[in-house]
Amino acid sequence: MNRKAVYPGTFDPVTCGHLDIIERAAKIYDRVFVSVAHSAEKTPLFSVKERVLMIREATSHLKNVEVEDFEGLVIDYARKKKTRVIIRGLRMISDFEYEFQMALTNRKLADDIETIFMMTRENYAYLSSKLIKEAAVLGADVTGFVPDIVAKRLNKKLSKLQK
Ligand code: ADP
Repeated sequence: MNRKAVYPGTFDPVTCGHLDIIERAAKIYDRVFVSVAHSAEKTPLFSVKERVLMIREATSHLKNVEVEDFEGLVIDYARKKKTRVIIRGLRMISDFEYEFQMALTNRKLADDIETIFMMTRENYAYLSSKLIKEAAVLGADVTGFVPDIVAKRLNKKLSKLQK
């Protein structure tokens, strides 16, 4: 059997919370596609290319994980990858409403595709890309919250922007 899943997101940047979901998904599915949405409306700090490269580096130990970008509807992308599974992570109740709406909308659009939710690990429950960026701008050391490669890139990016 070749069980495949897509894990879509903005990943601006990828955090240890995302990585934990990826690692756990990679144990359940034969192939996991981590799919970076362009999300131009969110005006990401990192370009889509940078986000893809950071996830590739952070997941290089996972041989069944592939990272690429995509545009358009997640359900269309999932069909293109010939999978019927969309993985999403849940941190706390605040995530629930948005994720619930999105999962139901996707089900309405594509009844054959299922959204599977994975609960965060408790130490990452409060962790978000937004929080990491805000903390880093204020000079916080974000080591341990994001993969090392991300911490380095984040510092570099912010020092460039602050010049
Ligand atoms: P979005 O896709 O909504 O732009 P993200 O790229 O930040 O948001 O996240 C992608 C997915 O990973 C979402 O389902 C989000 O809830 C989940 N996620 C984000 N941070 C964590 C975390 N710390 N633990 C578990 N899941 C997370």
